[in-house]
Amino acid sequence: MLYITESCVGCAQCMFACRKGAIEVEGKAIIDNDVCSECMRCRDYCPLDAIRIVSE
Ligand code: SF4
Ligand code: SF4
Repeated sequence: MLYITESCVGCAQCMFACRKGAIEVEGKAIIDNDVCSECMRCRDYCPLDAIRIVSE
């Protein structure tokens, strides 16, 4: 499960990087964890390291 930290500025780099369409941006990024495959490609593109993973 992924979540977005407060440091997100809504630049949408993660949204464009996601090949699953699991991210929308409305001011800040929103991840649909039902769609996300946890490939972590989005995190590589985030300039602010605002995408984190929660280990279950
Ligand atoms: S981890 Fe992969 S599938 Fe999930 S939101 Fe990021 S780029 Fe998309
Ligand atoms: S790339 Fe990072 S800062 Fe930009 S919208 Fe995504 S989570 Fe937020």
